[in-house]
Amino acid sequence: MAMHSVTPNNQNEMRHLIDTFNCVEDCPIFSEMYDFCRMYAGASLAGARKLTAGTCDTAINWSGGLHHAKRGEASGFCYVNDIVLAILELLRRAVIFPGADT
Ligand SMILES: [Zn+2]
Repeated sequence: MAMHSVTPNNQNEMRHLIDTFNCVEDCPIFSEMYDFCRMYAGASLAGARKLTAGTCDTAINWSGGLHHAKRGEASGFCYVNDIVLAILELLRRAVIFPGADT
């Protein structure tokens, strides 16, 4: 995500970048937005990795589930689709459908 340099203070100068990622009225720019995205998406990925490593049976990210975001586009107060990232990690390790041919 190229949004790491956008802050509430420079969002007017960064409007072209903000528009590129569709951060409009339902995806406002806020302080430390990039760090927030990294933390909640990283927490979902960490949960998926713990599941695949067998170090837990259940993983919950209470701050995750921001499912409206699309590839390269924020939407509906969702900046990164952490659910998709976690599913891709689980699929990469073939944990979701252990009985299916891979
Ligand atoms: Zn959303």
